[in-house]
Amino acid sequence: MKDLLRKRVLVTGGAGFVGSHLCDRLLEQGHDVICVDNFFTGRKANIAHLAGDPFFEVIRHDVCLPLYVEVDEIYNLACPASPVHYQHDPVQTTKTSVHGAINMLGLAKRTGARILQASTSEVYGDPEIHPQPESYWGRVNPIGRRSCYDEGKRCAETLFFDYRRQYGLPIKVARIFNTYGPRMHPQDGRVVSNFIMQALSAEPITLYGNGQQTRSFCYVDDLVDGLIRLMASPDEVTGPINLGNPNEFTIRELAERVIAQTSSESEICFEPLPEDDPRQRQPDVAHAQKILGWNATTELAEGLPKTIDYFQSLLEQSQSKATL
Ligand code: NAD
Ligand code: UDP
Ligand code: UDP
Repeated sequence: MKDLLRKRVLVTGGAGFVGSHLCDRLLEQGHDVICVDNFFTGRKANIAHLAGDPFFEVIRHDVCLPLYVEVDEIYNLACPASPVHYQHDPVQTTKTSVHGAINMLGLAKRTGARILQASTSEVYGDPEIHPQPESYWGRVNPIGRRSCYDEGKRCAETLFFDYRRQYGLPIKVARIFNTYGPRMHPQDGRVVSNFIMQALSAEPITLYGNGQQTRSFCYVDDLVDGLIRLMASPDEVTGPINLGNPNEFTIRELAERVIAQTSSESEICFEPLPEDDPRQRQPDVAHAQKILGWNATTELAEGLPKTIDYFQSLLEQSQSKATL
């Protein structure tokens, strides 16, 4: 790529699950990538293969603190995404979303960079409208255990739009729906990683509630494609824009598919439904289709085996280390 086309791109949360795939794709496109991460849920293993690439650098840094670098684009992904992790230190979760957004917006304001916020379907809370369009304002409990994440992300969206209105910043807000794939943290407590790890280890599959709640699962490669398209869209496209796969499954169906695909002998065990667990979730992706020409094309039948292979290899690595 000619140097003129090479952009300096900052990815916060770049050592995490989605962030590390985004770094890969940006480097493949020939950009100069700075990954900023405090390694709360991110792992060096996710980006180890990039060490030695002259166009990749890592800064260990907490986005709650100011950051001075010179960049053309910022993808702000820093924030734990799994309920177990974001509820571990809820005050820090809100700070990460709010102080992190302020600092990254300040950085964008000073450098003139385009800035994209990784928002979430959680801004819709436990929705009364199905599927959820971007125009829906949501039903979020402001004082529950999920609120540190939901309200933090909602406040970050507010900040993005106020920086646009007040300072004219070129902003992009993506509302990401449940995404899965290789490099999810094996202990992060999210449903896809939990079920696969349990099935591969022949442990009981922990189904919360009656398993009739629904989610729509997007494979990580599709999401990364959507994020890059959104960043490349004209300045007047700010979002918020839903990015997700509209194919909806009950959590029970997911458990059964994981058991079948791993040929596991695990049995399903029922555990209480966590507080404020949304009953249904499915993105309305009409805007993403029309404005970005984007669709999630990877079916669960294709993405799940790739994810299972990843966790299988993680387990094999840890077993071979244990026998050394
Ligand atoms: P992840 O936990 O794997 O990645 C988050 C990364 O942010 C980690 O590397 C973590 O160490 C880093 N981080 C956390 N706090 C930080 C801080 N204060 N300073 C610097 N780095 C910090 O989660 P993910 O699934 O890759 O999610 C990435 C982003 O996408 C998050 O903002 C999340 O809210 C959003 N999102 C993800 C999903 C999903 O299903 N994966 C759905 C909706 C939204
Ligand atoms: N900021 C940063 N990097 C920069 C510029 C600003 O981290 O390159 C931080 C800065 O510390 C400030 C925040 O971004 O707290 C918001 O910046 P802004 O210019 O909007 O506000 P101000 O500095 O006027 O408070
Ligand atoms: N879930 C489950 N068993 C698990 C983990 C999660 O039944 O071991 C359920 C959870 O109650 C929720 C759904 O799966 O209804 C998705 O949970 P996850 O934590 O992955 O994401 P989120 O609730 O944020 O969509």
